[in-house]
Amino acid sequence: MTTIFSKIISKEIPADIVYEDENILAFLDINPVNPGHTLVIPKEPSTDGLETNPEVLSQIIKIGQRVAQAQKKSLGCPGVNFVMNNGEAAGQEVFHTHLHVIPRYHDDKCFSKAMPTMSDRTKDKETAALLASVI
Ligand code: 5GP
Repeated sequence: MTTIFSKIISKEIPADIVYEDENILAFLDINPVNPGHTLVIPKEPSTDGLETNPEVLSQIIKIGQRVAQAQKKSLGCPGVNFVMNNGEAAGQEVFHTHLHVIPRYHDDKCFSKAMPTMSDRTKDKETAALLASVI
C-alpha cells in the first residue's frame, strides 16, 4: 500500500529529516505531541510492525534509540516514549510501519495515566498458556 510516507521517502513531499541511511528514515511528526517528536520508518514499505521483517524492525529500534539519546542530549527531555501503533484498533492512521519517539517531561500530561485496568484477572493463567502455545 502506498502512503504519504512513501512520498516522504522519495522526497516528493518535504519533511524535517533528522536521520537517513540506506534502509531507515527519521523525520519530525507533522503533529507533534511534544517538540522533537520523531517518526522512524523503514524505506521498504510494510503495513505495521507485525508485518515488518524482524531484521528491519531491529534497525528501526536501533535508530529509535539513537534519536531518543539525541533528544535527551539536545532538548533536555528527562524521558522518552517509544510508541508503535499496529492496526486501526490500536490507533494506527498511516499504514506504513513507524516508531514514534516522543520526548517527555515531568507533568507534561501528554498521555493520561488514568487508563482502565482489568480488575478480573482470574483468567490470567489460561491466557498466558494460550499465548505460550502459539508463540
Ligand atoms: P499513527 O497514528 O499512524 O501511529 O501515526 C501517524 C503519524 O504520522 C501521526 O502522528 C501524524 O501526525 C503523522 N503524519 C501524518 N501525515 C504526515 C505527514 O505528511 N508528514 C509528517 N511529518 N507526519 C505525518
